[in-house]
Amino acid sequence: MDKILLLAHTQEDGSLPKGAYESLNAALSLAADLGGAELNIGLIGKEVQAAADSLAACGAASIFAVSGEDFADSRYSSDAAAVTTLVKQAAPTLVIAPTSSRFSRCLPGAAYRCDGRIETHITGIKVADGAVQVQRWYYRQRMVATLSRAHRPWFLVIDSGVFEPWQGAAGTASVQALDVAIGDDCRRTRVIGVQSPGSDTQTIRPDARLLFVAGAGWAKKQLDGQLHIKQAEGLILDFINGSKASLGSSKSLVDQSSEGEVISFMSHLNQVGQTGSTPRHPKGLATCCHGEEPHTVGWRFINERRAISLDANCGWAQGKADVLYVADAFEVIAKANELLAKG
Ligand SMILES: Cc1cc2nc3c(=O)[nH]c(=O)nc-3n(C[C@H](O)[C@H](O)[C@H](O)COP(=O)(O)OP(=O)(O)OC[C@H]3O[C@@H](n4cnc5c(N)ncnc54)[C@H](O)[C@@H]3O)c2cc1C
Repeated sequence: MDKILLLAHTQEDGSLPKGAYESLNAALSLAADLGGAELNIGLIGKEVQAAADSLAACGAASIFAVSGEDFADSRYSSDAAAVTTLVKQAAPTLVIAPTSSRFSRCLPGAAYRCDGRIETHITGIKVADGAVQVQRWYYRQRMVATLSRAHRPWFLVIDSGVFEPWQGAAGTASVQALDVAIGDDCRRTRVIGVQSPGSDTQTIRPDARLLFVAGAGWAKKQLDGQLHIKQAEGLILDFINGSKASLGSSKSLVDQSSEGEVISFMSHLNQVGQTGSTPRHPKGLATCCHGEEPHTVGWRFINERRAISLDANCGWAQGKADVLYVADAFEVIAKANELLAKG
């Protein structure tokens, strides 16, 4: 009989990230599909009681935790030791965890220490013919594979946005604390600060309801024969701040960063497509973008797609968008910003 361990780590304020609740839902439905497999939870963080309390009603058999100052921050050595201890205590056949930079760093090593195997970027789990099967994408999201393994424990790291987050009443959870001894050699690595972009330049928002894509047209000569890059910057920034959208870009626009005047807050991290990212948002709006296949392949997981282009024969018109507005994006976005400002 399979036994599932859900792993989660707390955030700075002691709460669990959304991905943890999504992975919990994945674990619960897998447990049900396996005919009522036992589910345990393993928490890591400085203080975990509030996180455990938020899961009190999920029906887990036990909640184990490794906590304390040594486990406040992401650090390979302490996190790998914590995960190894939690797995040895719970003795699961299947370990489920959300994708986060913290887990992505430590779980492969921890899986090795537990003589386990690991699959990352899981986008689906099911039980078929009595076997657990997982789904993940390869070759820049162009090929989807379904795989299963006989080896246990099997670590499954779930991508965000795939499962609905679990929702349940908070309560008072009983937590079994586990001791993990950390040596001074491990403490040599310390987090001494966090450097992050200013709030006006933090443009990638994975949880946003809307993906706003800016294409190279914003940095091209417009109908008056002139470039309007500063105006474009203002329109794009006002739009993503007013709508709380996440900012994506075509490759052509981000590549221009090496060629002089550009949209200053755009980097290759914003690039969507075959050689960029494949974000997951319920809706997407492309502007001044042609909608070529290497770009739109990155829209694979965007449910509702709209585009604004001057070109009525652009790629979006060839079945890539649900709605194409043949219009000047400078004018449309200026009007949209006016409406957003009114609230
Ligand atoms: C191996 C390979 C990998 C690639 N990977 C990627 C990738 O990951 N991501 C990616 O994006 N591309 C990728 N590309 C490049 C891709 O093929 C396109 O060249 C790129 O997406 C074009 O970007 P664009 O549509 O913004 O620019 P353009 O093709 O220059 O289109 C600009 C559009 O803006 C419109 N426009 C101009 N002004 C306005 C206005 N005022 N209002 C409205 N519309 C306006 C124009 O009509 C035009 O349609 C890849 C290519 C290759 C060969």
